[in-house]
Amino acid sequence: MSSSVLTRPAPVLAQRLAGVASSPVRDLLALLDRPEVISFAGGLPAPELFDLDGVRAAYETVLWGPAARRALQYAPTEGDRELRARVAARMTARGLLTTVDDLLVTSGSQQALTLVATALLDPGAVVLVEDPTYLAALQCFQLAGARVVPVRTDEHGMDPEALAEALHRERPALVYLVPTFANPTGRTMPAARRAEVVELTARHGVWVVEDDPYGELRYRGTPVLPLAAWPGADEHVLHLGSFSKIAAPGLRLGWLRAPARLLPALTVAKQAADLHTSTIDQAAAAAWFAATDLDAHVARLCSAYRRRRDAMVEALPAALPAGSSWTDPDGGMFVWVRLPGAVDTAELLRHALGHDVAFVPGAAFSPGTPDRATLRLSFTTHTPERIGEGMARLGAALR
Ligand code: PMP
Repeated sequence: MSSSVLTRPAPVLAQRLAGVASSPVRDLLALLDRPEVISFAGGLPAPELFDLDGVRAAYETVLWGPAARRALQYAPTEGDRELRARVAARMTARGLLTTVDDLLVTSGSQQALTLVATALLDPGAVVLVEDPTYLAALQCFQLAGARVVPVRTDEHGMDPEALAEALHRERPALVYLVPTFANPTGRTMPAARRAEVVELTARHGVWVVEDDPYGELRYRGTPVLPLAAWPGADEHVLHLGSFSKIAAPGLRLGWLRAPARLLPALTVAKQAADLHTSTIDQAAAAAWFAATDLDAHVARLCSAYRRRRDAMVEALPAALPAGSSWTDPDGGMFVWVRLPGAVDTAELLRHALGHDVAFVPGAAFSPGTPDRATLRLSFTTHTPERIGEGMARLGAALR
């Protein structure tokens, strides 16, 4: 090798990626790809509950139908009109009045987060988030060059008093919330607090993103209106929905409901990103929607997930040491655990993997100073029996 090769400068990554490189925990979690591991780490829906026959039939319907060639063509950025009409009707039925023109179809709600970051965040802008919160949203905001500021939460989600103080102090551009069956905690913000959050943020003239991929997965209690449905939310609250948990994440379909004055900017951002979401996948989703009793399908999901949540929550007292606390979620996919004392759950994960069981250490979800004694468990992808076995292994690892 010549010395000129040695001194040649290496191409470098963009600065914005500096804070979001690989992490030791992600590297550890890569170890779970062994069949003997019972993993509570993933955030996946149960594949055996996918409506495979229905989805297969929907693609057939589209590809054999009169619009087959159109389904393989470029299409408008806003998304398939029929799909948007069906989403709008479903959201309206859930109490959030929505029309076709309020909606942009996205490639999963994850893309909606990117579009929001592109359209609303200048470098250095402040985003207020719950602590802990959804990891990939944090990455998205960090990649946009935003400064993510955690706000105190309690068992009901973001604390309005802490929010008021942070709004005043930080002058944020955006508040990001997962108010229903949150990832990672499973917590839900009650109605009164939602009203308070909408009112506070409206008063400060700050955008709010309500990320709601889990809202339909309710296993007990009565639904709470989305934040976006609250009086005063029209002008500043964006609502993100997804097919990932009610249909299948491999479709990569979600939607974004935004105030009218914001939609043109979001549409331009979407156009620059991918022109539009897959035409054929949108058409198939619309056909699936048309042919499926979605309420019955969601009820089937809820009944299976309810049993899995119960199995996990019932096994926790025997598995965890005295002094532990955990959430008992009304819906969604996650239980959030706090262990007593000065435990580091990243260390514990190493040990747990030795017992063929896995979880996600809670620090991964924290934008601030992490609480290293926390961890996230997902109950959706295993039968109640397997959950019992996995919790017994976790108990053994903890002892
Ligand atoms: N937001 C939250 C809170 C999530 O938990 C997830 C997926 N785990 C997403 C957004 C992204 O979902 P998708 O892109 O599949 O719709």
